[in-house]
Amino acid sequence: MTLEIKDLVVEHRSPGRPVVRAVAGASLTVRPGEVVGLVGESGCGKSTLARAVCGLNPVTEGSITFEGAPVTPLGLRRRTLTGVQMVFQDPYASLNPRRRVGDQIADGLRTARDGETDPADLLERVGLPREFAGRHPHEFSGGQRQRIAIARALAARPRMLIGDEPISALDASAQAQVATLMRDLAVDSGAGLLFISHDLSVVRLIADRIAVMYLGRIVEIGDTAEVWDNPRHPYTQALLRAIPQPDGMGVLPEELPGDVPDPAAPPEGCRFHPRCPFAMDVCRVKEPEPGPVACWLHEPA
Ligand code: SF4
Ligand code: MG
Repeated sequence: MTLEIKDLVVEHRSPGRPVVRAVAGASLTVRPGEVVGLVGESGCGKSTLARAVCGLNPVTEGSITFEGAPVTPLGLRRRTLTGVQMVFQDPYASLNPRRRVGDQIADGLRTARDGETDPADLLERVGLPREFAGRHPHEFSGGQRQRIAIARALAARPRMLIGDEPISALDASAQAQVATLMRDLAVDSGAGLLFISHDLSVVRLIADRIAVMYLGRIVEIGDTAEVWDNPRHPYTQALLRAIPQPDGMGVLPEELPGDVPDPAAPPEGCRFHPRCPFAMDVCRVKEPEPGPVACWLHEPA
């Protein structure tokens, strides 16, 4: 039930525009029952990677395999439709406003060819009252809608759950609740969870491992405590410094310097070098090797 992403490249092509390598050689593994948090600023290719895993974006180079079989747009329909389920960012757009939520959850049940589970049971599993099955999406808050979207994803009995910024549209109070719910549901059912967020502090709460993505590449990956306590890549360090600390700590968050460069024209060498306080000559000409930390400061001699 392992998801394996190897040297993945995903390019976006549109007529009259430069090719955008949204994912530019990324490798990542998610094992059953494991929660991997994928973090980075917006525009770093996280969503493109997630959509490729679900077969929604074609793979340009490299591979994605789930349970040993390649994930392709065709394969998604035929085989992995019930294997990989995605929860999207916008809880207002992902549910059909005209249909009762119970019917929308039942669509997932039919996919799993399992007539035995009642949509109301799934609502209960995500912490909502059974009666909600008869209502329409507009009657609910963002947090409640995201729970409904999770119930619908669970209906298909996924062996891998992908959340693409599933909490970023929610109130602060709902964010940790929904993130923890996704983790508990995935882990309890033995499914893996790839949880994408730009919010490192929430990812830290739920992830076993953290992968940091910058401009199409994974620049650091490691156990959550290790990455949190001892970030090694300058980009990870900058992301952590940007997190507001609890009041009274006397530490002010530091905004990241500069912006994410245009992925259609990434910088030569290390893609982070224009924003990196430690950039050396080699960084401007040679891209660091992929690895647990893709940075010339940490290259084994
Ligand atoms: Fe900074 Fe160089 Fe490391 Fe890139 S390789 S993060 S520019 S030190
Ligand atoms: Mg995104």
